[in-house]
Amino acid sequence: MSKIVFFCIPAHGHTNPTLGVVKELVSRGHQVWYYSYNSMKDKIESSGAVFVSCDDYDMEQKLSPKDGARIGKDLAFSTKILVDTTLALDDKICAEMAQLKPDCIVADSMAIWGKAVAMKLGIPFVSSTTTFAFNRHSAKIMKQSTADMVKMILSMPKISKDIKRLQKKGYPVKNVLDLIQNDEHTDTIVYTSPQFQPCSYTFSHKYVFVGPSVRPATEKIEKTKDKLVYISMGTVNNDMLPLYKNCIDAFAGSDFQVIMSVGNMVSIQKFGSLPENISVFSHVDQIAVLEKADAFISHCGMNSASESLYFGVPLIMLPQTAEQNGVAERVFQLGAGVKLQKTDSKAIYDAVKTVLSDSQYKENANKIADGFRKCAGAKGAADKILSMY
Ligand code: UDP
Repeated sequence: MSKIVFFCIPAHGHTNPTLGVVKELVSRGHQVWYYSYNSMKDKIESSGAVFVSCDDYDMEQKLSPKDGARIGKDLAFSTKILVDTTLALDDKICAEMAQLKPDCIVADSMAIWGKAVAMKLGIPFVSSTTTFAFNRHSAKIMKQSTADMVKMILSMPKISKDIKRLQKKGYPVKNVLDLIQNDEHTDTIVYTSPQFQPCSYTFSHKYVFVGPSVRPATEKIEKTKDKLVYISMGTVNNDMLPLYKNCIDAFAGSDFQVIMSVGNMVSIQKFGSLPENISVFSHVDQIAVLEKADAFISHCGMNSASESLYFGVPLIMLPQTAEQNGVAERVFQLGAGVKLQKTDSKAIYDAVKTVLSDSQYKENANKIADGFRKCAGAKGAADKILSMY
């Protein structure tokens, strides 16, 4: 029986794909400890792992919602938060890992404290990547603007200062890329298919593309009209009341059934009384909705896009971050969706009509779904972890 330790950030999109892998490892008789945050406790424990709370060390919790939204958009700011969290957790996890002596550490690509402690203590390490894998070829898909590039270059001195703080604590980190990007020598699990991953042929054999992990639906959604349109901007950057209102205007009284998930930052009361064909929730069983949906207006988080394509549902895409831009660009390249250029109600309605009136979009989504279904899934990810020692 082996001892495996997982580290993750408190985000559903990063946690969900790992849960099937934890279940698989536990079902093969291995012990799993999972360092994460209280908001994820229940789902982690129900996957069979021992949950270890990092809430007392969570630097992100101390941020204002506005600062929270900068994470993922501002590299220097994100690096500072990640380094602060790593240093805050340093004594705790170094002592606990030295005592537990895990056979392998598996850390989300953003939970850099997991990778950092593995490097420091020389423990076998696997990166868990819920986005695309990035190298100099695939990173081009994010199409960073010149302004973004300039901002990044200007922020480098700040980032170097933060990296020095890690080095002082004994972490063998040379630069920010050592932490946030995996080189070709890092064993890496990527939760997508080789077909959907841009430039997958440029990655070494250390990378395994295991496909998205799509959990089973727990609810049943009733389809009340011929076409069902689902709308969600994910669980993080979803404070988008004007967009939601435009969606309601776009589809009020139309032939479409519309289900919209708006998250916890927008009060549902703000929508007043809704047209009979539109339902709005803070959270839905997204898998249950996608099983029935015909089109998905999405921010193109990696999980939402993958889940949509898994069920052959074409996308209308409104990415909010560079990473989501990359996902949207890939979906666009493969012809399984359109990008929303404007967010007024007419543009929203027209984009949905375009996707629904040309069967190519659905056919292309189904082709990607076929690729997903051929992947090794949680079993393949567990095999990779167990092959590390
Ligand atoms: N999700 C859900 N119900 C909702 C909204 C989202 O179950 O009402 C799930 C969705 O199925 C996906 C995850 O939350 O697995 C969102 O992850 P994604 O990477 O798409 O976006 P993020 O929330 O990280 O921006």
